[in-house]
Amino acid sequence: MNLEALRASDAAHHLHPFSDNKALGEKGTRILTRGEGVYVWDQDGNRLLDAFAGLWCVNIGYGRRELGEAARRQMDELAYYNSFFGCTTEPAVKLSAKLAELAPGDLDTVFFTNSGSEANDTILRLVRHFWAVQGRPEKFHFIGRHNGYHGSTVAGASLGGMAGMHKQGGLPIPGIHHINQPYWFGEGGEMSPEEFGLARARELEAKILELGPERVAAFIAEPLQGAAGVFIPPSTYWPEINRICRQYDVLLVADEVICGFGRTGQWFGSQTFGIEPDLMPIAKGLTSGYIPLGGVLMNQRVAGVLREQGGELAHGYTYSGHPVCCAVALENLRILQEERIVERCREDTGPYLAQRWTQLAEHPLVGEARICGMVGALELVPNKPSRTFFEDRGRVGGLCRDIALSNGLILRATWDAMLLSPPLVISRGEIDELIEKTWRTLDQTAAALRQG
Ligand code: PMP
Repeated sequence: MNLEALRASDAAHHLHPFSDNKALGEKGTRILTRGEGVYVWDQDGNRLLDAFAGLWCVNIGYGRRELGEAARRQMDELAYYNSFFGCTTEPAVKLSAKLAELAPGDLDTVFFTNSGSEANDTILRLVRHFWAVQGRPEKFHFIGRHNGYHGSTVAGASLGGMAGMHKQGGLPIPGIHHINQPYWFGEGGEMSPEEFGLARARELEAKILELGPERVAAFIAEPLQGAAGVFIPPSTYWPEINRICRQYDVLLVADEVICGFGRTGQWFGSQTFGIEPDLMPIAKGLTSGYIPLGGVLMNQRVAGVLREQGGELAHGYTYSGHPVCCAVALENLRILQEERIVERCREDTGPYLAQRWTQLAEHPLVGEARICGMVGALELVPNKPSRTFFEDRGRVGGLCRDIALSNGLILRATWDAMLLSPPLVISRGEIDELIEKTWRTLDQTAAALRQG
């Protein structure tokens, strides 16, 4: 099919996620055809530096043939078997053990899902079951955060705090509450980041006391808020959250779907921020996006209760522990470990990227350039140095994203924040190219705004 035929067919038969499908059908989708390292190519042959790693997920970069070979080997050997009815497969066994080795603290047990959303749906059920089998069924309520993102399934979207998502489908479901986010740039006012971090953490304590600690099952949050706009919490935030969760015996869920597998320069965001989670949903970087796979990692307390007192677990997916997905994940983790990709991010390319990225704050359009490991954002603002937003929020971000594309650079826009999350294998030379293209994009965006 030629390009026009492909686009017409797509418009007629394919409903795209998180898209205005009418507008997209009229504009025509971009069709990606190939990837290598940090680059992807589109149907017109344009080479694009993917500074967003697909959707925060292609940690080892595109085009690693070993993953395809691992899938091929496993498909030839045993393409599928389930992990129900007392069965399992060798890749699922080996991956569970590998994850237990990599995970922080005593998180040493995993339940496999296909995605991050399913991991969070699983958490809602496992955590309520955990309390119920200990004779505490009233410990049922979850607390999440406004603008948190935990997926698109019913529980995932309910735990998340995206108002636009709640509007579609009658969410959130009962028993889920939200507190404010630690977004200092947008909401910190006159407080220092440290004061603000503490204040926002203490909203959790207030909410727990309002609901009654005996009714609160868990608090869920991303180590840094990704989809909302890469909000990196002040240093005071997580230590206080740890304290509050321990004090009121509320389970702490760190959603590691973005942060996991090296994104912040440690294997998990929980290590970067000193979080002491009881459970961690994982996905994305687990397979570098080469094949769908997610999971819930849990500590010995949670796993122990579910094993010893949980009875038959009435939960699971046809593809929980899919052998091909697990084989691909094992190969991905082998590459991350043997090539010391996480260490390189932490010690070399991450600090270099941070140094170059924060220089972008000198641009007249940039109100803040923040970064943690290999994930960051630029806040585009009308009036430096005040922390104010454009009136028509989202327009300038969209414009900047489109200009970036015309410069061969993929950045994501959330409102007027430009988000960065490149493959972890990005080299210093590619970082220079990324920064040069971003600076040029900012100049062109500013010029377009001046022209109205
Ligand atoms: N949690 C977080 C923190 C995420 O960023 C995402 C996806 N962006 C999810 C959960 C949902 O994962 P998935 O899209 O694989 O269902």
